[in-house]
Amino acid sequence: MSVVKPVVVLGIFNADAVYRAERQPKIGETVMGEKFKLEAGGKGSNQAVSAARASGETGPEVHFISRLGADDFAKMARKIWSETGIIADVTEDPETHTGSAFIFIEAATGNNAIIVCPGAAGKMTAADLEARADLIGSASVFVTQLETPVESVRAGLAIARKAGVKTILNPAPARALDDELLALCDYLTPNESEAELLTGIAVTDRAGAEAAADALMARGVGAVVVTLGENGVLYRDQSRTIHVPVARAGAVAETTGAGDSFNGAFAVALAEGQPVEEALRFANAAAGISVTRPGASDSMASRAEIDALLA
Ligand code: ADP
Repeated sequence: MSVVKPVVVLGIFNADAVYRAERQPKIGETVMGEKFKLEAGGKGSNQAVSAARASGETGPEVHFISRLGADDFAKMARKIWSETGIIADVTEDPETHTGSAFIFIEAATGNNAIIVCPGAAGKMTAADLEARADLIGSASVFVTQLETPVESVRAGLAIARKAGVKTILNPAPARALDDELLALCDYLTPNESEAELLTGIAVTDRAGAEAAADALMARGVGAVVVTLGENGVLYRDQSRTIHVPVARAGAVAETTGAGDSFNGAFAVALAEGQPVEEALRFANAAAGISVTRPGASDSMASRAEIDALLA
């Protein structure tokens, strides 16, 4: 067992049913598709997979808090978590289904249209988190996003903060957040569009990212990590600003899940006590590797790959 205290992730698992077709069907119409795949998704589950892969043999244990339905998609989730070494702290809800998403991809353009039904995980409450206060309190880092109801996010962050556990909020999908919730975040990790939605400041360059970070810190966030896609990542706290350009691990295949890869690996590095500059490089390397492979959860980098890229 690792001597490093665990990373605890709260979030959702989605079974993503991905359909590729020439065009979207109109109401009442059926079109024949070109390709289908069923993939593991959900930002929280993807971040837990990234953390577990980045942790390897020596890093922290990774726990995942969520709700599943009592159905086959729940079995799919549990199989992926057990293969990756994630410890599931999950309640099964027989009244509803496991999170699932319909993803239509237009063959010619790659553009998509998505329907998400979070099912059981969409019913997570503050009480679900309070019931796991001991687990959260035993962690080194607590990570969450905005795919479960905001009251569950708030409760998890508050329990972690009270216990002295570092908190990371990846504010995705973006929504307005109150100052009380922002003040519970040691690290807030928006991408450019999320930073813009949270602050009203256009984040199209480094100056915009710095201004958005300042606005978020003025509202109580400890440090802001703006992921800038192919421009890397900008970190800012009260005393310093760090920019890390992308790690070049090979030709880019698909950037889906890049942010999830970053967040999971960042949590592991912080849990291990890596200084923030190293933690940023570690997470940036993990995300840089993940974009060279298709898929989200399937593309996450292993510890050996991250160490090799940073060596
Ligand atoms: P999201 O997936 O949440 O939109 P970003 O697109 O900002 O997040 O990407 C997250 C991180 O993934 C970046 O900060 C960077 O480390 C890495 N990344 C994204 N795109 C690339 C790329 N084209 N090449 C290498 N790394 C990338």
